[in-house]
Amino acid sequence: MKKKLGFEFRITIIYLIFGVFWIIFTDILLEMHTKNAEYLVNLQSVKGIIYVVFSALIVFTLSKRYARQQKFIKTNLQQSIEKAEESDRLKSVFLANMSHEIRTPMNGILGFVNLLENSEISSENYKQYVGLVRKSSERLLDTINDIIEISKIQAKEAALNVTAFDLNESVRFLFDFFKPAANEKKLSLSLKNTVADKKIRLQTDKIKLESILSNLIKNAIKFTHEGSIEFGVQQDKNSIRFYVKDTGIGIPAERLNVIFERFTQADLTITKPYEGSGLGLSISKAYADLLGGEIFVESEEGKGSIFTFILPANSVGKT
Ligand code: ADP
Repeated sequence: MKKKLGFEFRITIIYLIFGVFWIIFTDILLEMHTKNAEYLVNLQSVKGIIYVVFSALIVFTLSKRYARQQKFIKTNLQQSIEKAEESDRLKSVFLANMSHEIRTPMNGILGFVNLLENSEISSENYKQYVGLVRKSSERLLDTINDIIEISKIQAKEAALNVTAFDLNESVRFLFDFFKPAANEKKLSLSLKNTVADKKIRLQTDKIKLESILSNLIKNAIKFTHEGSIEFGVQQDKNSIRFYVKDTGIGIPAERLNVIFERFTQADLTITKPYEGSGLGLSISKAYADLLGGEIFVESEEGKGSIFTFILPANSVGKT
């Protein structure tokens, strides 16, 4: 490959060629005009001044351009450094949360297994401990599944598996699945399905759709301490709008736009009070993009949140 000459060499060569050309060309031109030697000597100074002024103008323009470029590079560099530092900090928080998310259920499992080894345990305690071991194992499995899923998404290996299925069956399944968890927290979980009487076939990736909705309902239950959660389904033109509305803790306005990003959570402290890997919404967002849909949130801190997912019309069969 041919190596290009550096800018400083090019500009010096051009300067020299132009200088030589200027001297020779103006000499010829002046000698054609006059043969008066004294006059010609005087004009040499004028020629010199013109050349110096002209080259000073060029040097000034080039220096100005160079200074502007340097400033631009410096600002960009500064922004990149700040971005890298922020990303580094978020990754540390993420890793700390993740370690916490693995260690806590693991300690739970080991602790209760130790208690189960005690032969004098009552049948009531036995049932309770087994239940807690199951809960901790499920939490651990959820975290590991999230890590695997986000790695697949990052490696662009999360493939779509489109099938045809009944919308209402899926909605009912999700509602029934989460009802006990809501009841356990004394929250009222209601279903507002305005298309319940229609037979709507969806043509999309069922697992990914259910995973998005599960995540939204699971979060609503997790971040709501009293009140209600409404799981809604509507048909807008041909697209299907799903929403999960809760009366929970809400999300601070300045964090609203980052909760769908990887490694970010509404609560940025390492010792956050809620369990969870912080990956759920970034997985949901990636799935929503894969399904060609749209996911967004409206929320008010202390009042509650509404998460909406819109499945595009081309995923909805004729009714
Ligand atoms: P995780 O729930 O594991 O922390 P998510 O990615 O599912 O991770 O959610 C990211 C963050 O968004 C949560 O940590 C929480 O701060 C905020 N969040 C999500 N859903 C809700 C909700 N319904 N109400 C309040 N905050 C929420």
